[in-house]
Amino acid sequence: MLQMKLCGDLVLREKCDVVTEITPEILHTLDEMVQMMRDQNGVGLAAPQVNITKRFLVMTNPDTDEVFKMINPVITKRSDETCTMEEGCLSVLGPDDLPVFANVTRPESVDVAWTDENGRQLAAHMSGLPARVVQHETDHLDGILFIDYLSPVRREMVMRKVRKHKK
Ligand SMILES: [Zn+2]
Repeated sequence: MLQMKLCGDLVLREKCDVVTEITPEILHTLDEMVQMMRDQNGVGLAAPQVNITKRFLVMTNPDTDEVFKMINPVITKRSDETCTMEEGCLSVLGPDDLPVFANVTRPESVDVAWTDENGRQLAAHMSGLPARVVQHETDHLDGILFIDYLSPVRREMVMRKVRKHKK
């Protein structure tokens, strides 16, 4: 069974390895991750969050409920235009065992390319919420958390709550 890794665990800071072969184990893990994401009312989950340092993730388009299983996702283009949205993370929990939210500014839209679970090469232009989710999740594959984008003062406000989380 998969276990959620929380902020402070060094696995969340690793740069993940490219997937060279889509194994049955990866396919099984992707299914488990979709279930875990749904159970915890999340919109995305990346492999290092469940202690796997490989480049794959699952996410939903919150507008359509479509589920994506992305292997080796790459953001190929970012818009100059940015926007600010509230973000949380299933690995960044506060004292109530729920994600701690904070405003993060990122590009408003992105182009993303990935391999799906059937080995097909896909690409899409995403804007709004799905663009936000895919940026947050692909960041995880490079060891980057949303709190890294916050000002020191804002980050400390989040971390104060995280430190109160009961493990
Ligand atoms: Zn996250």
